[in-house]
Amino acid sequence: MINVTKTFLPPIEEYNKQVQRAWHNQWLTNRGELVLELEEKLKKYLDVSNIIVTNNGTIPLQIALKLLGKQGEIITTPFSYVATAAAIVWENCIPVFVDIHPEYLTIDETKIEQAITSKTTAILATHVFGNPCNVDVIEAIAKRHNLKVIYDAAHCFGVKYKGKSIFDFGDISTCSFHATKLFHTGEGGAMFANDTALRHKMYYSHTFGHIGPVDYYGVGINGKLSELQAAMGLSVLPYMENILEERKKIVAYYNDNLDFSKLKFIKIRKDSDWNYSYYPIIFETEEQLYKVEKTLNEVEIYPRRYFYPSLNKIEYISGSTMPVSENTALRIMCLPLYVGLDISELEKIVLRINSSL
Ligand SMILES: *Cc1c(COP(=O)(O)O)cnc(C)c1O
Repeated sequence: MINVTKTFLPPIEEYNKQVQRAWHNQWLTNRGELVLELEEKLKKYLDVSNIIVTNNGTIPLQIALKLLGKQGEIITTPFSYVATAAAIVWENCIPVFVDIHPEYLTIDETKIEQAITSKTTAILATHVFGNPCNVDVIEAIAKRHNLKVIYDAAHCFGVKYKGKSIFDFGDISTCSFHATKLFHTGEGGAMFANDTALRHKMYYSHTFGHIGPVDYYGVGINGKLSELQAAMGLSVLPYMENILEERKKIVAYYNDNLDFSKLKFIKIRKDSDWNYSYYPIIFETEEQLYKVEKTLNEVEIYPRRYFYPSLNKIEYISGSTMPVSENTALRIMCLPLYVGLDISELEKIVLRINSSL
């Protein structure tokens, strides 16, 4: 069976070696030695000045919205994983959707200003499949209207824009280290902010607000990564170069062999170093997508309709119509992409797709 992704696992001896450190310390959480080391190593790897690792990629969205959204209207994208919109609703803010650009698939920055009202507090946009939003224009709009910017950068491990980590953009950026993501800790995530005072609030927000055993800065939640998760991160991180190398080869194979007279790939924004995190293809029609899905499923190959449906169609959100996002969601599918997917499997996937277009 071939799924859209397969979790990368380091040699178990290397994971054991890390886990033994936790045994030796008899210390499993509350920002122990392994979490602190992981943060230091990630800072170097990502070339960022700050990071707070968290227990998943959704909690940092909630913390960001709690601190910056202030129960107002949040301008957001309908084309993302459900966590983006759900976090807004969960934090008692109101999602206000702005449609996406048909090629980049990120929020259409030219439509943001007309959605701003006196109740708007922040923009929460997703760098879709590791493809950066138009961060320059979004920053200018936010400045002009005194809004905060949060980026759901769950897909963006290692992505750079104009030579800088994409996590450096916006007031807060978040990432996911879920088992299906490019870099993972099983479950996990991170949040980034350049403003010291804001980072301080984020930090205590993820540790129940503790300032000491009996004193509190303010309200908090439990967003801590455990030592066992950090052990996974520390044993996966040394493999990142290999992981990227392998993925790059698979992406090149798809690029060279898929029939792009009838398909499209997303347009990657200029000046960005992309991370080979997903391989989305866009069909001309939904019928084509169904046909390809069926022929692949017949031989136990399972691509994923990602993202589907457009988030404005979800019953508890029900935003206004978003033609580009809705139409794209009907026609887009992510192809298998993971370390260990071999050439004969790739040949089979490509042959089946091309012959049913
Ligand atoms: C995976 C993902 C999340 C959620 O991350 P978790 O670690 O699973 O909580 C949020 N947003 C996007 C775009 C994602 O793909």
